[in-house]
Amino acid sequence: MEPTSQVSLPEKEVKKQEAHGTVYMQFMKSHSCYDAIPTSCKLVIFDTKLQVKKAFYALVTNGLRAAPLWDSELQRFVGMLTITDYINILHCYYKSPLVQMYELESHKIETWRDVHLQCFNRFLIHTTPEASLFDAIYSLLKNKIHRLPVIDPVSGNVLHILTHKRILKFLHIFGKTVPKPAFIGRQIQELRIGTFTNIATVQQTATLLDALSIFVERRVSALPVVDEQGRVVSLYSRFDVINIAAQKMYNNLDMPMHEVVRRRSCFVEGVIKCYPYETLEIILDRIVKTEVHRLVLVDRSDVVRGIISLSDLLQAMVLSPAEICVTEMRDHMGR
Ligand code: ADP
Ligand code: ADP
Ligand code: AMP
Repeated sequence: MEPTSQVSLPEKEVKKQEAHGTVYMQFMKSHSCYDAIPTSCKLVIFDTKLQVKKAFYALVTNGLRAAPLWDSELQRFVGMLTITDYINILHCYYKSPLVQMYELESHKIETWRDVHLQCFNRFLIHTTPEASLFDAIYSLLKNKIHRLPVIDPVSGNVLHILTHKRILKFLHIFGKTVPKPAFIGRQIQELRIGTFTNIATVQQTATLLDALSIFVERRVSALPVVDEQGRVVSLYSRFDVINIAAQKMYNNLDMPMHEVVRRRSCFVEGVIKCYPYETLEIILDRIVKTEVHRLVLVDRSDVVRGIISLSDLLQAMVLSPAEICVTEMRDHMGR
């Protein structure tokens, strides 16, 4: 990734931004989505006439997490297929290990969308290469999505699918040139970045179906798996659910979570955690290096106290300085 538009500001302006904590906001405003696109990447597009089951196998075999959906009758992109959709399908149609999920076997993507998306957005939320990264972050957070396709307005082609991870990594690499604002040296408990109340967790003795129900009902991206004392023992994210397709396990959602996490492949070893007394700088460094979407905030006994997700970090570092708040205030305490 190479930024095309490095803007050098007068020293007085830099000092002002530093003092006001607006440096990251300015950085994102002065770089475009094009800047954050890698020189090469794999992209798969699904026709809405494809069977859902085949589509998820295609994601697995290509090592991908999401794909834009093309409607050949309308001749336009109509949405995305992500692992959240797979979770919704399993949750909707699973009855028991003895009953085959006819709908998973037979539905086309368009059939599923007709049934499920009646009250949801039926359009593809996208951006352009020229749009700023600030606008991309706003779109990701406001729409509560994790995948933002960048579409070339001339050819209509999808160039890349931007994620929070990609944007934060871009900042981490190229943001070294901007002065560090004072707040990144402060402790996370002081800054209150993240969610600290009503954390969605799953007991290690609960079933996979219980976990899927929590994903659907709470719309969270990951669940700390906890023991009876509330201590975190592992982390199960929406991404891990793709293992069900990979291992053809969708007929046994009654399996306990400790068994599910033991069987999954391609996961991060251990739980990537953080502590309330750690600084934002340390947390940023850890989340970028480990390439995960969130850290589990724990106390000294490993009891779950919060979640610090990339959405929280981008809200606090980029949108809050612009006085924009798109995250729910109920459980969330931004900077
Ligand atoms: P995941 O975390 O599983 O990758 P998301 O949180 O991005 O998924 O997706 C949540 C829901 O929003 C899914 O039903 C998905 O199909 C839909 N969705 C995701 N990205 C977009 C987009 N760019 N435009 C329209 N719908 C989207
Ligand atoms: P995505 O790239 O789709 O956002 P995630 O970061 O949620 O995916 O998950 C990628 C992998 O990393 C999953 O196997 C997930 O269980 C693991 N993972 C994510 N966050 C953590 C964490 N804090 N501790 C341990 N493993 C994690
Ligand atoms: P994400 O979907 O991870 O980008 O996060 C969106 C919001 O949900 C952020 O404010 C997170 O702190 C919050 N969040 C993520 N996971 C959980 C969870 N397990 N329990 C409660 N809140 C969560």
